[in-house]
Amino acid sequence: MSRYWSAFVHQLKPYVPGEQPKLSRLVKLNTNENPYPPSPKVLAALQAASDERLRLYPDPECSEFKAAVARFHQVPEDQVFVGNGSDEVLAHLFMCFFRQSKPLLFPDITYSFYTVYCGLYDIDYQAVPLRDDFSLVLDDYSGDNGGIIFPNPNAPTGRALSRDQIAELLRRNPDSVVVVDEAYIDFGGESAIPLVQEFPNLLVVQTLSKSRSLAGARIGFAIGQAPLIDGLERIKNSFNSYPLDRLALAAGVAAMDDKDYFEACCARIIAGRDGLAAALTERGFKVLPSAANFVFARHPAWEGAALTAALRTHGVIVRHFAKPERIAPFLRITVGTDEQNQALLDALDAEL
Ligand code: PMP
Repeated sequence: MSRYWSAFVHQLKPYVPGEQPKLSRLVKLNTNENPYPPSPKVLAALQAASDERLRLYPDPECSEFKAAVARFHQVPEDQVFVGNGSDEVLAHLFMCFFRQSKPLLFPDITYSFYTVYCGLYDIDYQAVPLRDDFSLVLDDYSGDNGGIIFPNPNAPTGRALSRDQIAELLRRNPDSVVVVDEAYIDFGGESAIPLVQEFPNLLVVQTLSKSRSLAGARIGFAIGQAPLIDGLERIKNSFNSYPLDRLALAAGVAAMDDKDYFEACCARIIAGRDGLAAALTERGFKVLPSAANFVFARHPAWEGAALTAALRTHGVIVRHFAKPERIAPFLRITVGTDEQNQALLDALDAEL
């Protein structure tokens, strides 16, 4: 450990990102990227933006992109906040809303970055256990708290709450900021965005990394009523006033505007997920119901780590979480193209 670091940095437990392997021939089903390319209109917009204007700073307000998000989601532009991937949006909102005297609530199990932000900003939290079937129960979120955050669908389980359930959660917690992290919402879940006008304490976070095939461009946004958005703008302008570069802005606008491509791509992934879940079930897996672009599944005869390692020998990489112990038997498998899903099934057939 470095003697140059502060004591605070020594105690941080940073997030460990999923592996990005250097070998391109691997069947990569480990980090929930989209297996299909971005819209051709996105690639054309990137080319059109690649010119001498790159010497200029980008628009710090991201106005055209905010307008595209507002058009797509039918909200006013002043209800949109933009960040460098939804991870950055989340980082800002943890700092802005959750540094309270009461603990932040989030499910146990969930996106592991939440505990990392709590460590970074010294936020007190309480991880609320999911039920045995990995469902989130509203009664567990009714006490006094300093905020609530959960992914919908949850990660890495894929289980989702309905919009009515989220409205009920908001009614029960009028004094807390409630953040719904919708990284995977476009694969069959019900977005909470239509609730924003009714609930001043709701913030919905989305990303272009998954359903719009732009993980490499790092674009995320939040939608909420103007007072919440204003708080986020204050944090952002105290940190980095240019969250998106010129190329990301061009790509983001084109991606939000190409609704037909987006819908067709999501439909393909949903069909692929349902086929994959059925094929895994046929092979003896227990597969949790998923509203995301991944499935969470366990085989009774295998430990998750051993099966992950066995699949890797066939060039197929999936994600396995050793902790908490409750999920150690599971694999999280990103839905790929039909060919990739078949490669996974072939590898399983060789091993099981
Ligand atoms: N939220 C959840 C639940 C996620 O799984 C991810 C992806 N790892 C993110 C947010 C962050 O996505 P990005 O920063 O690519 O927008």
